[in-house]
Amino acid sequence: MNADLVVVGAGFFGLTIAERAASDLGLKVLVIDRRDHIGGNAYSERDAETGIEVHKYGAHLFHTSNERVWEYVNRFTTFTDYVHKVYGVHNGEVYSLPINLATINQFFRANLTPDEARTLIREQAGELAGSDPQNLNDKGIQLIGRPLYEAFIKHYTGKQWQTDPKDLPAGIISRLPVRYTYDNRYFNDTYEGLPTDGYTVWIERMADHPHITVQLDTDFFDESQPLNKRALVGTVPIIYTGPVDRYFDYAEGELSWRTIDFEQEILDTGDFQGTSVVNYNDADTPFTRIIEPRHFHPERKYQTEKTLIMREFSRFAESGDEPYYPVNTADDRQKMLAYRDLAKAEEAVLFGGRLGTYKYLDMHMAIGSALTMYDNKIKPHFSGGAP
Ligand code: FAD
Repeated sequence: MNADLVVVGAGFFGLTIAERAASDLGLKVLVIDRRDHIGGNAYSERDAETGIEVHKYGAHLFHTSNERVWEYVNRFTTFTDYVHKVYGVHNGEVYSLPINLATINQFFRANLTPDEARTLIREQAGELAGSDPQNLNDKGIQLIGRPLYEAFIKHYTGKQWQTDPKDLPAGIISRLPVRYTYDNRYFNDTYEGLPTDGYTVWIERMADHPHITVQLDTDFFDESQPLNKRALVGTVPIIYTGPVDRYFDYAEGELSWRTIDFEQEILDTGDFQGTSVVNYNDADTPFTRIIEPRHFHPERKYQTEKTLIMREFSRFAESGDEPYYPVNTADDRQKMLAYRDLAKAEEAVLFGGRLGTYKYLDMHMAIGSALTMYDNKIKPHFSGGAP
């Protein structure tokens, strides 16, 4: 092996580090990933039957207000003018989300002005005003009042967590946004869009550098192949973006995650739901939402009479499942403190990304934190400064 730096994990975090180290410092970088493709969870591919681009690990919408990240990602891709909007089914009717004036007026069969709607929601939230909610259910009622909470939050959250919100900690939510305008843009960020040629083309361009070598199907913990932890640690600087508990052989116990099961179906219709994402807010529907990926790229005008949909079912991850969202219980936080100490003591290995830090990170956050790690740790180290 002839590398100055090894990156474990070819997701956005790992590839941002690799790209900067190769392009800016001229380092030879070896990137390994246990999967058979690059891109981590942002990977997408064209469905063989319909040609529609499918985000294999769940819908990925790019958005950021970080100028540096926006400038950086635009080096590799242009973005479409896609603006994300979400609709939700409750009681057989479709509503606009996040809760806004259209949702409120439709739900209460009213024609309220912003001030009237504000007063109504304040009155309804007054049911638990001044109390100290001990669970998510009471917190939700206190934030937006019982009617809207029970229609749009209670069962959706219960399905996401496989737990009755009365048994979930109040701390999971600090606020529930209610907009007193008809603005139903899902994100508030300055920049938003989808990569024009798809996520995989974007990600391939990041890795396309003569000093970057990517080796797939290579598990860092598999000692039957040469690029493993035991062989590499201490011989070359390593950026590790896999699960932090796995790195330390679960010495402090396993961290808990939620995962999603995707049920994919191809239908004999050109359009199933008229939009990309519809949430199912009621308890009697077992899935949380349906994604119809063709609507992410209306500009492509897919030439197919069929469409593809993905139903999402959320549950706690078991061993072998893809870890998607940190559960982050008090017990997890305690374990994470111990893992952080172990990680600090691990010389010549830096931990990053969502699995390496046990944090939910949007793509722009993963890229932003990789750029910061590059500036603060990697560049000074290789330029002769302090690591
Ligand atoms: P990852 O993408 O997870 O990459 C880590 C890589 O490490 C993986 O490729 C993995 O195979 C590899 N690896 C792990 N262990 C090993 C090992 N032992 N050996 C070798 N390789 C290993 N962000 C948004 O901005 N917008 C969205 O709409 C959005 N939607 C999301 C929906 C879902 C369901 C999920 C789960 C995430 C979503 N995200 C979204 C977040 C986005 O996926 C992350 O920001 C991004 O994946 C973080 O990149 P990363 O490099 O830290 O991690």
